[in-house]
Amino acid sequence: MEIWHRVTFNATSKPIFLETIKGMKLNYKTLQLPGGGGLLVFLDIAETNSNWPAVSRLISSLGAADLQETIFSEEEIRSAAWLRMICVFEQGYPQPRMTWPFNQPDRELLCPKCAIYRQIAPMHIAKEPHLGRKAFMTTILTHEILCIPAVLQELQEIQATGYEDWDVILHKTGQVSQRVRQLFIPTVARPGALLGEEHPRTVCPQCGTIKYEAHMRGVLLIKSNALLPNTDFMLTHEWFGSGYFSWREIIVSNRIAQLVLDKGWQGIRFKVVEIV
Ligand SMILES: [Zn+2]
Repeated sequence: MEIWHRVTFNATSKPIFLETIKGMKLNYKTLQLPGGGGLLVFLDIAETNSNWPAVSRLISSLGAADLQETIFSEEEIRSAAWLRMICVFEQGYPQPRMTWPFNQPDRELLCPKCAIYRQIAPMHIAKEPHLGRKAFMTTILTHEILCIPAVLQELQEIQATGYEDWDVILHKTGQVSQRVRQLFIPTVARPGALLGEEHPRTVCPQCGTIKYEAHMRGVLLIKSNALLPNTDFMLTHEWFGSGYFSWREIIVSNRIAQLVLDKGWQGIRFKVVEIV
């Protein structure tokens, strides 16, 4: 596994940062902001890169947004008994967008303060999505897994368990999407994600639910007795997110990851889970 960082800063206010990474011959992308907003720089760099210690010091001294993610090799994924499945392709907003996460036809809010929820009906999206070569997608603001019908056919073929095949509704017309369906996961594991004392979290003042910040570094540890038997899919008992963002991580068995890799289906990433 390798830890990658997406570092973002404004080169107009931090010219030394840009000059330094140019001198390091690192690859980066830029975006000119309108109205004299400056030049945004996006740098993807792995911690194994020999320039990482210097870049890390620049982030500390000059300030920059730093999002990290652990990338696992195909071999690591194929040899893990359990994995997290994370959708990395977002298309559009859940509908109705203006009132999200309130008054969503698909959600029963369990707490209006932290917006933990239970999905009770098919979700609504604005229009038929453009998937290109992707087989999986999610929407901005949510973590629900939508996929092409072929994925669900194959899951049925291998007799996968622990998921349901749900319609997705096109909000304007009320029609069922012909391009995507929801891979709905009804099963919630027992408590057992080991996030450590130092993992940042918030406690909802209204309902007391703990929400953990997204787990981005290394393997996620889960106690073996948290897993439920005879299922290929389950959600963690623990909630993640902040503010109105709430999600449970999706845990899948090895054979689901193998199927996705064998088929070359794009749009999701797997992160190794270690059972302890
Ligand atoms: Zn709450």
